[in-house]
Amino acid sequence: MFDLIVKGGTLPDGQVSDIGIVGDKITAIGSLDLAQAGQVFDASGDLVSPPFVDPHFHMDATLSYGLPRINTSGTLLEGIGLWGELKQVMTQDDIIARALTYCDWAASMGLLAIRSHVDTCDDRLLGVDALLEVREQVKDYIDLQLVAFPQDGFYRDPTARENTIRALDMGVDVVGGIPHFERTMSDGAASVKELCEIAAARGLQVDMHCDESDDPHSRHIETLAFETQRLGLNGRVAGSHLTSMHSMDNYYVSKLLPLIAEAEINVIPNPLINIVLQGRHDTFPKRRGLTRVKEMLAMGINVGWGQDCVLDPWYSLGTADMLDVAFMGLHVAQMTSPADMRTCFDMVTVNNAKTMGLKDYGLHVGAKASLVVLDANDPIEALRLRATRLCVVANGRIISETPRADATLSLPERPKSSRRRHAPDTA
Ligand SMILES: [Zn+2]
Repeated sequence: MFDLIVKGGTLPDGQVSDIGIVGDKITAIGSLDLAQAGQVFDASGDLVSPPFVDPHFHMDATLSYGLPRINTSGTLLEGIGLWGELKQVMTQDDIIARALTYCDWAASMGLLAIRSHVDTCDDRLLGVDALLEVREQVKDYIDLQLVAFPQDGFYRDPTARENTIRALDMGVDVVGGIPHFERTMSDGAASVKELCEIAAARGLQVDMHCDESDDPHSRHIETLAFETQRLGLNGRVAGSHLTSMHSMDNYYVSKLLPLIAEAEINVIPNPLINIVLQGRHDTFPKRRGLTRVKEMLAMGINVGWGQDCVLDPWYSLGTADMLDVAFMGLHVAQMTSPADMRTCFDMVTVNNAKTMGLKDYGLHVGAKASLVVLDANDPIEALRLRATRLCVVANGRIISETPRADATLSLPERPKSSRRRHAPDTA
């Protein structure tokens, strides 16, 4: 007897299977035709995937677009300045309300694990208090991991060091940093060193905003890889953005990538934000502002797409849809072969789960019973359609359902409706 059976869905590898759930665990995968269940969801003909995972977000800033004004230059630096103005006027209740609304959107989109940075450059630590509260409130359906993020610079801001350590003492999960925003390259490198030491001493993961610029000489990822090795943090460190790598000398990159691979750094490009914020100082040709994704994947480096922003001082759009994120990444990185497109789907599911160190993730017996049913034949079609999430299951419970968005047609001698799906031609 199962509590829930998700019936007849197509898994990302093409296997058609029923999924049996007891409590909050997947307990059977295969043909469950004769089994009894408290509840059955019919996923016949639809894609069933493990949930989407976003390894890079800013939940303290989300849904604040236009407050107190709009970013007119569209640059990262004006966004940071604008966020500084907003921090002065927002309250803890505002942050909690906005974050919980965003978590509703995420749940409806099958986005059930999120790593959010939280700004620690605030003597009151309002955002930290707020997001610790939100982490607790959503824990039955979203794995929310928090990163202590000294937005204004670990050394550049006079109290950031002390406040970042306070945030970790309060229960923030991961150590963050922003070396390219420190006053000098050497301060940036020193911040990477000290922050990695703090993480090693506390047994925590590291996730740095690293080299988020078009400056080919911004090379903090090299220091991050070195410190990771020196402190034995292999596999527990992420480098976010790495956009400077787009502009680096090719010879230097040929030396750098093996260092990143050797340190088992997880890499998080954020394509929606990188394509919008980078290259703003260029005339033409205008750089794409995305790190070298295909080249790192080819080296065996774990790379996954992050979302970064939704409706905040840095980005004016977004819907918590990781398929939108992967769709943009696929285009900017020119990952258009069938294998590359499938990889783009993995980059918002399994690759990101690895970066976040999620336990019991995936569709297998013994895994946490969290999944999403999509109105698509396979992962590539899910990307093409940014497919409707027909059903979202979190920890064994259906938490969201969305009806199919079929169009009703009134056309002579044509079908009465269109779903825009297209089965692969296997004839
Ligand atoms: Zn960020």
